[in-house]
Amino acid sequence: VTALAPLGQQMAPYACQRRTPLLHSNQPLTEALETLAEEAGFSGSEGRSLAFTRAASVLKALPGRLSALEELGPLPGIGEHSRRVIQDVLEDGVSVEVERVKLSERYRTMKLFTKIFGVGVRTASRWYQEGLRTLLDLQERNTKLTRQQQAGLRHYDDLNTPVERGEAESVGRTVQEAVQRFLPGASVTLAGGFRRGKPRGHDVDLLLTHPEAGREAGLLSRLVSWLDSQGLILYQHSQENSFALCEGPEPPGSRDVLDRFERCFSIFRLEAQGGPGAARGWKAVRVDLVVAPVSQFPFALLGWTGSRHFERELRRFASHERKMVLNSHALYDTMRKRFLPAASEEEIFQHLGLEYVPPGQRNA
Ligand code: ATP
Ligand code: MN
Ligand code: MN
Repeated sequence: VTALAPLGQQMAPYACQRRTPLLHSNQPLTEALETLAEEAGFSGSEGRSLAFTRAASVLKALPGRLSALEELGPLPGIGEHSRRVIQDVLEDGVSVEVERVKLSERYRTMKLFTKIFGVGVRTASRWYQEGLRTLLDLQERNTKLTRQQQAGLRHYDDLNTPVERGEAESVGRTVQEAVQRFLPGASVTLAGGFRRGKPRGHDVDLLLTHPEAGREAGLLSRLVSWLDSQGLILYQHSQENSFALCEGPEPPGSRDVLDRFERCFSIFRLEAQGGPGAARGWKAVRVDLVVAPVSQFPFALLGWTGSRHFERELRRFASHERKMVLNSHALYDTMRKRFLPAASEEEIFQHLGLEYVPPGQRNA
């Protein structure tokens, strides 16, 4: 019964100090906890949401299937509430609390609305307060939608059908070929969940760079215009590089959740490769394009590979344990008051005094 206890006790407190594989043995437990994390997020309780996410993340790193709560021992990062949920699922197969959440009108409606591209918790919550419950309600009551939300609604079914790895690779090749027209030598890297080994995902994250500094400037707008002219873009929203504006004496602010690269949030029209879009001939796919200058590439790659929780933990570790500020552009040492350059992800882990965690083990 105590087989996991010693391991539980050795479990490192930060997710970035652990190896978290894609597949693990405690799926029913992590699903329950992540449902509660999501629900807490829907209610605006970020702290509670994070507590459930942390607990789920710890279970994902366990080397085996948990069969009794006692096996965990005094594990850090799993609070009272999470323990109760774990116990319920272990004993009864389900948690009554979780089942109640999943059936609740509010949770179901929030889930439906936040699955629209461009709709966050705040908008979904407002719609719920206004009495809206279905996608049809949005149309019939002429709810004011942004251009992004209109596109999200138009392609709702496609965008909520997982992107298969083959589709992601196909998008990657299309972008790579287009990029070569404008900037020979530039590289296109598949980041996000696919780089962590996921077989499918909700979008395709592509990182662009060029080995000569500065050559990447202006690439994105030319690339997107060309793809658009070929009829490959159903929606796009680009953002210029704004990092230069905040450079200088000020270190990268940890309050900046978003990075400041030239980037494009888009919906591609992908020729169907079987699956639901096959009969129609094409499928809408969410694609994020990000351009990084080569000096920042390792930071961008680390930042855009995820998981979100792994990234959050890396930044928390950097700041609390090392007095450093990490983001997708740079690593700043606040004690020595200087930026720490890196030519690879490995070097960033070294600067932080962390054992290197390969992408496939960042599924925290
Ligand atoms: P999925 O299969 O659902 O796409 P994913 O891990 O690829 O899973 P994404 O939402 O695509 O999830 O995010 C990938 C990574 O990119 C995350 O680690 C996240 O931190 C980073 N990221 C996503 N959106 C932004 C953004 N707007 N600004 C900065 N980083 C972002
Ligand atoms: Mn992704
Ligand atoms: Mn993404």
